[in-house]
Amino acid sequence: MKNFDVAIIGGGPAGIFSAFACGMQRLSCIIFDNLPQLGGQCTALYPNKNIYDIPGFKKITSSDLIENLKEQAFSFNPEIRLNHFVKNIYEHENIFKRETAQGNIFKIETAQGDYFANSVVIALGNGIFGPVKPILKDLDKFEGSHLFYDVDDFKKFENETVVIAGGGDSALDWAIELSEVAKKIYLVHRREHVSAHPASWQKVLELAKLGKIELKIPYVVCEIMHDNFQMYGLNLENFVNKEKIFIEAKYFLPCFGIRSDVGFLKNWDLKLENNRIAVDFFTMRTSRKGIYAVGDCAHYLHKRNLILTGFAEAMQCSVDIFKYLHPYSAPDWVHSTDSDLFK
Ligand SMILES: Cc1cc2nc3c(=O)[nH]c(=O)nc-3n(C[C@H](O)[C@H](O)[C@H](O)COP(=O)(O)OP(=O)(O)OC[C@H]3O[C@@H](n4cnc5c(N)ncnc54)[C@H](O)[C@@H]3O)c2cc1C
Repeated sequence: MKNFDVAIIGGGPAGIFSAFACGMQRLSCIIFDNLPQLGGQCTALYPNKNIYDIPGFKKITSSDLIENLKEQAFSFNPEIRLNHFVKNIYEHENIFKRETAQGNIFKIETAQGDYFANSVVIALGNGIFGPVKPILKDLDKFEGSHLFYDVDDFKKFENETVVIAGGGDSALDWAIELSEVAKKIYLVHRREHVSAHPASWQKVLELAKLGKIELKIPYVVCEIMHDNFQMYGLNLENFVNKEKIFIEAKYFLPCFGIRSDVGFLKNWDLKLENNRIAVDFFTMRTSRKGIYAVGDCAHYLHKRNLILTGFAEAMQCSVDIFKYLHPYSAPDWVHSTDSDLFK
């Protein structure tokens, strides 16, 4: 069991840069993220897009930015815990007997066990990501067997009939890719207009002409048909005239995008404003002493949710954490060029 100077909750750009900024103050850090990789929204939602408003880069892809941030922060060896959902933060008796400003420490409760730190930086962005799920009876009983939100193994779909629902990029991309292995693909969408790349739509129309994809527009899936939870088809409802039809299929891929959730924050005993954590603009202190918030999850007047904003907040906050943990010392540098850390 180890006691860290700083526990960082969230491994998006603000969380990763916090590990660097705290590292510059010679503070030991641990980063938790619920996802299997670092990078937050940048990696999970738009890894290949160019970003144009990062100082010093005319443009940089989102994934390159994250790789650079990781390289910079990893020079201070933060510990990383991926697939770790932080459930809550509690004040805890100082079992390590290390000097702290207020005598106690924080217990970080994760689904995989408890961790301890003298201070906390919350950088959880818009919260945890998850697929938008259709509202269908007994949905969870088919998840992982007949119903998937993502495809990791094409083999499963070989020579099978697959229903894909949605009109965005992921729905169309999966329809195109799976049409190469599946017996038949049904693409179900509730309206004529699709919100995907026009080239993908063109490709779907070509595959529909060849009979590889059958379009069911304007329809929605309204019922999973099964025999003792072995799915054998879906009932669809016409979105306009409500007529119902049955299609035989073994697999169902709802592709309605990703949603994020910060509902769990209500139990963290922090002052919230607009579902965000209220902070002091100058220090990023929250309403709980020793706990800070940076990035998209932190709220103050005129706050802009930008990567750049999170970087500045992380730097401001790291200096205040140093003062909080070492009230009788001063940081030994002002500019990175003066620090012996990089020499
Ligand atoms: C399509 C798109 C394009 C964008 N383009 C730009 C742009 O051009 N320029 C720009 O500046 N900004 C852009 N943004 C916004 C930018 O991505 C965000 O401002 C930035 O990602 C916020 O960083 P963050 O570290 O605060 O949070 P996030 O990136 O949201 O990361 C938070 C992390 O915390 C994790 N987490 C949440 N709750 C928990 C928990 N309880 N336990 C463990 N882990 C948890 C999440 O899994 C996530 O990985 C764009 C956003 C999108 C969606």
